[in-house]
Amino acid sequence: MGETLIQNADTILTMDDADQVFQNSDLLIRDGKIAAVGQGLVTSGEVLRGEGCVVTPGLVNTHHHLYQNLTRAVPGAQDALLFGWLQRLYPIWSRFGPEEMFVSAQLGLVELALSGCTLSSDHLYLYPNGARLEDTIHAAAEVGLRFHPTRGAMSIGESKGGLPPDHLVEEEAAILQDMIRVVDGFHDASEGAMCRVGLAPCSPFSVSRELMRDTAILARDKGVMLHTHLAENEEDIAYSEAQFGCRPGQYAEDLGWTGPDVWHAHCVKLNPAEIDLFARSRTGVAHCPCSNCRLGSGIAPVRQMRDAGVPVGLGVDGSASNDMADLMGEARQTMLLQRVMQGADAMSPYEALQIATRGGADVLGRPDCGRLAVGKRADVAIWDVSGVASSGSWDPAALLLAGPSRVKDLFVEGRQVIKGGEVTTLDLPHLLERHQRMAQALMLAS
Ligand SMILES: [Zn+2]
Repeated sequence: MGETLIQNADTILTMDDADQVFQNSDLLIRDGKIAAVGQGLVTSGEVLRGEGCVVTPGLVNTHHHLYQNLTRAVPGAQDALLFGWLQRLYPIWSRFGPEEMFVSAQLGLVELALSGCTLSSDHLYLYPNGARLEDTIHAAAEVGLRFHPTRGAMSIGESKGGLPPDHLVEEEAAILQDMIRVVDGFHDASEGAMCRVGLAPCSPFSVSRELMRDTAILARDKGVMLHTHLAENEEDIAYSEAQFGCRPGQYAEDLGWTGPDVWHAHCVKLNPAEIDLFARSRTGVAHCPCSNCRLGSGIAPVRQMRDAGVPVGLGVDGSASNDMADLMGEARQTMLLQRVMQGADAMSPYEALQIATRGGADVLGRPDCGRLAVGKRADVAIWDVSGVASSGSWDPAALLLAGPSRVKDLFVEGRQVIKGGEVTTLDLPHLLERHQRMAQALMLAS
């Protein structure tokens, strides 16, 4: 694969174990990995000038529903609370098929890449009209991002007291069969893997207790991770108490849904005992600040989680509830919201960026990603701090206070996916045309 040398960058924020920060230094990429960080490095390969730039690990997105990129800003769902929002969107999503899944995944991953993301998970929990998990896996392979798709599921439809229409839910036996198929077919457990599959029933209110339990058993048998939505808002807590007679943390623990191989999205309403449970069991959290604001769910206690030792990463969440996938924006929002709750010293821009990079990688079980250290994967974001957004900044490395939200260059496994702010791996105008045509057709049919 060869070498790329990023030469004489103003600042390199490594996010390594010692939190090293290098000034006027170089970073050498060789065969998809970080080969060296320091001064005076040389190469016979490609050289990329780093003057006027800050270099960080690529950002990690720990929660998304890429298919929702076709249903942004849907009237009737713009101002609804979570449950009403879902009921507005389910009928539209039921018209999706394989092509919608593929194209919306590509568009969503390109959007993430432009905000510095090199590794994204995805939570796909409905499979209408022949759609399959691999529709998104093929999309990610073309875009060139490291991808952790999760096989989601819903099994409790309206007729059984659930929220989704019956035709959007699946039989639980068929769900487990397909989980086995996609893990056997696409999961790569090796270091440096570009695709790892997780298992992810949509939420405790859309599948049975038995499916939650059986999925956890299957995931442990296969050595893959578990993901779902948990404790998102007050309605969610009330549902758990009414249906299961306990809070979400207890429900998760009882069914095997705690541990370092589990991460839960949102967790806005975790109480102190649940934070302690997550910390003790090393259960991860995907914090989705903009989605939580957008749906009025509240502010997750990230400061308390971090102080207790809960692994926390960031997620943009689906594009029907954000409606952007700007991961740098999420990092800034994380910092701002913790300050709203607890004062201006509650979270530094550095810590929020650390959560967005190394924090997310750890939540997804990827200690080989999320830090710029020798031997780690070469997932690298380069930010141009010579432009308007950074001009006048006395500390250009404080990217979340003053800095660009779009990346200049982006490498994944040493391969350049964004160059000079442009996607290199696919024909973006063609993708946009296809995506907009699809969204238009869905709008006309609804
Ligand atoms: Zn979600």
